[in-house]
Amino acid sequence: MDEDVVRPSNHQYTTKEDRVERGYNNWLYKSNAGHQTYGTCDICFDSGPVMTICRKCEHDQVYQVFQFGEVELDSTTLANILERGLKVQYACQQYNWERAPTRPVTVKFLQVAVGYARILTEEKREQMFNNLYDMLPPDPRCWSTKKYIIRDYHPSTYESEYIKDKDVVRPFNHKYTTSKDWGNRGVDHWLYRSMAMHQTYGTCDTCFDSGPVMAECRFCNKEEQVYQVFMFGNVELDSSTFAKRLGREVLQQEANREFYWKPPKARSVTVPFLQTAVGFDRSITEKEREVFFNNLYEMLPTDTLGNKALVEEEGMGSEKESDSEDE
Ligand SMILES: [Zn+2]
Ligand SMILES: [Zn+2]
Repeated sequence: MDEDVVRPSNHQYTTKEDRVERGYNNWLYKSNAGHQTYGTCDICFDSGPVMTICRKCEHDQVYQVFQFGEVELDSTTLANILERGLKVQYACQQYNWERAPTRPVTVKFLQVAVGYARILTEEKREQMFNNLYDMLPPDPRCWSTKKYIIRDYHPSTYESEYIKDKDVVRPFNHKYTTSKDWGNRGVDHWLYRSMAMHQTYGTCDTCFDSGPVMAECRFCNKEEQVYQVFMFGNVELDSSTFAKRLGREVLQQEANREFYWKPPKARSVTVPFLQTAVGFDRSITEKEREVFFNNLYEMLPTDTLGNKALVEEEGMGSEKESDSEDE
């Protein structure tokens, strides 16, 4: 019954409140397992009674409680967010004590969980991941250790103060993300080099300067105003190319930057917004403005939600320019 289900009181993760109350009021009092009622399978991400055999994987694969840093994640909420089944606990359930009841997980691992259902759209996946991310505790000590922005970075062997070109992560065609970017997994995946799981660079949506993704904008100089990835329809725009076409210098990423794990929220942009970006620099001539806009416009995909096609019909399209430009 619902009232007998044991789970963290905030339905996200265990807190001090869950821990301080002892005896009858202890959050685990009703569970002989000494854990939440439900757990999650770390292979197929199905959820069910903690420490019982996963109904999908079988063998000795059991539902475990996911441990994130010092806290336990609420398996029921996890199942809801991942839109997975929850095998209901029988009142007479017995446990398999052979495996450790908790399974340490990291943000990376949660991304694997989101990626498990191959049929999801990229958008849905992102939404799911954001929801998962929101259920994590804010205390930095709970996060997996702070990471360098570059995977496998070693200060003593990198030999460069700034990130090297080969470690800059950006869409394959240097314009926007395509299926080519998303098709490969593992070390071939376009985001593999970046621990931020996003492009190396982003753009400020106020002054349109570009710099290390999620770093504070050097010009706006206020908290929360960070370089974000621009999303046009369902693709990400290449921030480096964006900067170049606006005639801006990208603030270079330092090689030894540590990344405080908070996945960058992408900023959804439209054609009128790109016009605002071009118009931001008051000192340029009307002619230059037109060139900038045409250059920006040229980097947009033609097949994303029909956005670009729509604009072309309205007669705002650019003339085709050469692709020989090195960006
Ligand atoms: Zn399973
Ligand atoms: Zn700014």
